[in-house]
Parts: sequence; C-alpha cells; structure tokens
Amino acid sequence: MSSEVSPVLQPPRGHAAAIENLWALARTGRLPHGLFFQGPSGIGKYAAMEWLARGLLCQNGPGAPCGSCGPCKRLAVGNHPDVLRLDPVAEDQEEMTIFFIAERDDRPPTAYQGVSVEDFLSLRAGEGGWRIVLMRETERMNESAQNAFLKTLEEPSPNVLLAMECGRPGALLDTIRSRVVEVGLHALTEDDTRAVLAEHDIQPEEAALLARMGEGSPGRALDLREHGALLALESMAVAFRGKRPPAVLRAELFDVEGKFSGRTATAQKRSRVTEWLDLLVGILRDHERFLAGLPEERLPLGNWASAIPALPEALRRERLEHVLRARQDVGLNLAPETLLERALTAVAPPLAPSRSPSRR
Ligand SMILES: [Zn+2]
Repeated sequence: MSSEVSPVLQPPRGHAAAIENLWALARTGRLPHGLFFQGPSGIGKYAAMEWLARGLLCQNGPGAPCGSCGPCKRLAVGNHPDVLRLDPVAEDQEEMTIFFIAERDDRPPTAYQGVSVEDFLSLRAGEGGWRIVLMRETERMNESAQNAFLKTLEEPSPNVLLAMECGRPGALLDTIRSRVVEVGLHALTEDDTRAVLAEHDIQPEEAALLARMGEGSPGRALDLREHGALLALESMAVAFRGKRPPAVLRAELFDVEGKFSGRTATAQKRSRVTEWLDLLVGILRDHERFLAGLPEERLPLGNWASAIPALPEALRRERLEHVLRARQDVGLNLAPETLLERALTAVAPPLAPSRSPSRR
C-alpha cells in the first residue's frame, strides 16, 4: 500500500498560517533542518507536513504551491524523487523499526521493505532543491531506530528537511527532541471540523454530531463514524436507564456495523470494546459536567446527560471506577464481551425496590 497522497490542492484546514510561517523562514534561508509537528491526533499534522513539502518544492515556492508546475504535479501523484514518506500506518507496521532509518543486511521479510532515510539522503537531489523526509506517527519509532535517526539529525546536510509528526512526544528521546524545532498545531474549531467532514461527503446533521464528538479532531470524528459510534451511543444511553438487560445491550453493541483495526477477529473485538468503553467513560464525564452546570448542548457526546439518572456522588464515583477498570482490563487476556457486559452492568441503575432503604 502506498502512502496517502491527496491530489486535491488546498491548504490543510486550521493549519495554513503555521505553514505560511515556515515557508517565510525558508525564503530567507532560516528553515530549521529538523521539524517536529506536535498536537492532538487526528487534526491533520501529516497533511500539514505534506503541504509544507509541496510549497517548498514548487517551482514558484517557497510559498503556496501553484499546482501546475512539474514538481507540483509529481507531488500530487506521490512520485517526486525528493520526498520520502515514512508512514508505518500505510505500511501496516506496528513499529517504526531500524529498517525505516538505515540499511541492514538482516532485514526479515515482514519488516519494512521501502527506502530508508539513510539511503534516500545518500542520493543527490533529483531536481536540485530540497530533499524532504516526512515521518508519520514517530511515537512508533523504537529505540534503535531513534538512535540511528539521531545520527542523521546530528549531521544535517544543506537543503535537507526532516519533518516528523507525533501525537505523544514523550515517546521520543530527549536527544531527538532537543535537535528539532517544535511546530505546535492545535485542534480545529467545530466549524472547520464540520467542513472537513463535509469534504468526506458526510451530511450536515451527522457532521454536526461527529464534529462535536471529535472535539477538534476530524480524524477522530471520522474514526467514530467508521466505528458506528452514533448508533452505539444510543444503546449505551439505554444502559444507564436500565431499560434493557446488559447482556442484550452487549449483543446489540457487537451488532453495530463498524470497521475496527486488528489483524485477528479477537483483536478487532478488543478494538471495538475499547472504543465502546471510551465512549461510556465519555458519557459519565459529560454527565458530571452537566451536574456541575455545563449546558447540555456544550457536552461533546451529545444530549444524553439529562436522561441519565442522577445518583448520589459516591455511587457515581463507584460507577466510573467500574467502567475505568473494565477499560484497563482490555489490555489483559480477558474476553472482550465479558468486559463490556461488566461495564454495562455497572452503569445500570440500582434496582428500584432495594434502592431506597439499603443505599441511603
Ligand atoms: Zn508548483
């Protein structure tokens, strides 16, 4: 599978100004050779890096890419010789290993088979300008890859740009972070998120709900859609009111149509249950905000909070702890079905007859 390269020529929504600044630095020869794009996941950091690269390589650049020159056309179809995209997601690699960075003779057949950073940089610029490496999700870089990459960062060549993107900066060695300049990108506004969803042909009503749930991350909103989260939320809201038994709801939630990551059926079930439990925690958090006085229309998950019975604080805390524990246990070797049912049971209201005397 090749990296996602969009032929559409438009600045990444919400990040155009940040990239303009970088082009301005390039025009005066002050663009750092190592850039580290940071910010919440799913906000378009990788797309922003791609946009930066296009504007650097455009014949009329550095600046907004013209879209019609030779380099722009080659970039749009992903075969410009001076850009190397390292995308472990597209390569289906859990880890960014040493093989992404350096040439090694002992490369197993399951490892990354593409061009390494070292190899790419040993070539001269095909078109005489910048040579650019775009690295996605560098939190996946393991330690030996990081150490090898550090060497590259320490010996910068002129006109080389190493741009990396990471949603979890703590996963990177301090020695790497001290040699790159951070570019902080922010979550999008709700309007911008909705606009991105509209570009994916999502109808306005659904886009509005998803944008709210995505909290400024169109990527997250799209994931939620792919998982069938809107339908799942309805089943979960029922769980809080005790209208249907947890076992029935659990089955319903497994029937919700959705695509989940994972190589095996069990791994996919685990991703599914992780998502549902995250949503369940989200509902509980929303409910707390609602009780604290936040208007329902400002809660990320939608208008569920007022329909949830308000229990005394100690019971609410207990409920949250049960769900969080189930969420934590997804990492253990327990049946995902059991964990989900456990959590759904925990959020069901205490039985009416026994409630008043014993719980008060
Ligand atoms: Zn151009």
